[in-house]
Amino acid sequence: MSGGYKPLWGKTPRLKSSYDTVIIDGGLHGLATAYYLTRNHGIKTVAVIEKRHIGYGGAGRNTGIVRANQRTKENLPLYDEGLKLWPKLTAELDFSLMFNNCEDLNLANSTAGINVLRFEGAACKKSDRGT
Ligand SMILES: Cc1cc2nc3c(=O)[nH]c(=O)nc-3n(C[C@H](O)[C@H](O)[C@H](O)COP(=O)(O)OP(=O)(O)OC[C@H]3O[C@@H](n4cnc5c(N)ncnc54)[C@H](O)[C@@H]3O)c2cc1C
Repeated sequence: MSGGYKPLWGKTPRLKSSYDTVIIDGGLHGLATAYYLTRNHGIKTVAVIEKRHIGYGGAGRNTGIVRANQRTKENLPLYDEGLKLWPKLTAELDFSLMFNNCEDLNLANSTAGINVLRFEGAACKKSDRGT
């Protein structure tokens, strides 16, 4: 054990001969699918198959920003849900997901960058108006 976190699984999990569900993706989508299948849909056994290690992909190397200001208004409710989900999951799993709801300051140093920020800002404003 390092950093005060307890391991969530044993070091050498043995494969069973069959599972209710097999998921290929030890990233965010695969782990979330496994979790909600067992929590909400009565699935008893799930194998998550990962070719490298859990969190190897984008899940373990992203910027780590949970935000609700991105791109299109259709996406905004999804991102907004994410902001609510991370603290809820931390409590539900009794495991620190290192979520910290603080501000996020975006800077642009080019016309293209400024245009992206304007685009995102406009998407947020549209969403506030419910359009
Ligand atoms: C540089 C970067 C920055 C990002 N920043 C943010 C951010 O700030 N905020 C945000 O919300 N999102 C961010 N993202 C996006 C976010 O990380 C992804 O949306 C998310 O990780 C996607 O989850 P996933 O499960 O689909 O894929 P991944 O997390 O990539 O997981 C896929 C897993 O499947 C495994 N795999 C693939 N093929 C096989 C196979 N054949 N057999 C077994 N295993 C296999 C891979 O090894 C990998 O571990 C960022 C992404 C990147 C790359």
